[in-house]
Amino acid sequence: MCDSKKIKITVLGSGTSSGVPTIGCDCPVCTSDDSHDKRLRSSILVESATTRVLIDTSPDFRQQMLRHNIKSLDAVLFTHSHFDHIGGFDDIRAINYHTHRPLPIYLNEVTLENLKRTFYYSFEQPEQLGGDVPMVEINIINDRSFRIGDIDITPIKLLHGKMHVLGYRINDFAYCVDTNNIPDESYAKLKNLEVLIIDALRYTTHPTHFSVAEALSEIEKIKPQQSYLTHIAHQIMHSDLDKKLPGNTNISFDGLQIQV
Ligand SMILES: [Zn+2]
Ligand SMILES: [Zn+2]
Ligand SMILES: [Zn+2]
Repeated sequence: MCDSKKIKITVLGSGTSSGVPTIGCDCPVCTSDDSHDKRLRSSILVESATTRVLIDTSPDFRQQMLRHNIKSLDAVLFTHSHFDHIGGFDDIRAINYHTHRPLPIYLNEVTLENLKRTFYYSFEQPEQLGGDVPMVEINIINDRSFRIGDIDITPIKLLHGKMHVLGYRINDFAYCVDTNNIPDESYAKLKNLEVLIIDALRYTTHPTHFSVAEALSEIEKIKPQQSYLTHIAHQIMHSDLDKKLPGNTNISFDGLQIQV
């Protein structure tokens, strides 16, 4: 990249937990020919000139790494432990083969506890030789900002129903996936954003995700220069909604790249 201070964001997955199309569904969105309506599970890649950080290992992690020809990562940040955000964890093995070292992961205590339950074998003595397990170096996130390579990261506390999850701010970019409630204290970390990616599951309200209308009202409050909606379910057709959104807001899609 020409400007060393810039970061590049790639949306690897912009879909809700079941992905779009959803298995067995023949609704107009699931059967749409528009590539914008093909959504893998939510994950993004953040790259500087020297550092590459993934946010969440979705169940489509392997496909996402292959699609974008990504062979190595410097770290993974986890937002929370719902399976659509951790399901690809086992495939960290392939990154280990390339880098020959444990992959640093960053997460809060609750996410770690749940990750250990779901992928128990990665955190125990092996039963026998021959089966590789993902090798990770665990970093617990507290309130403070931290640095990976030349990328500075600020965790943002969010609520996802009752669950405490993390959003992340990197320079003037923020990623707030899987949330329906931004605590008052967190707005201070969302000031003066160039780009915000925010949860907008569907048109109707949901107990743990922002609807489109709720996401738009958060965008109104946060006032980023540009916003993208993500974690999209099959009730939303890209071409229907994108043209109705305010000028500085779009729906994200798999493969979208943004420079910040
Ligand atoms: Zn999710
Ligand atoms: Zn459908
Ligand atoms: Zn979730």
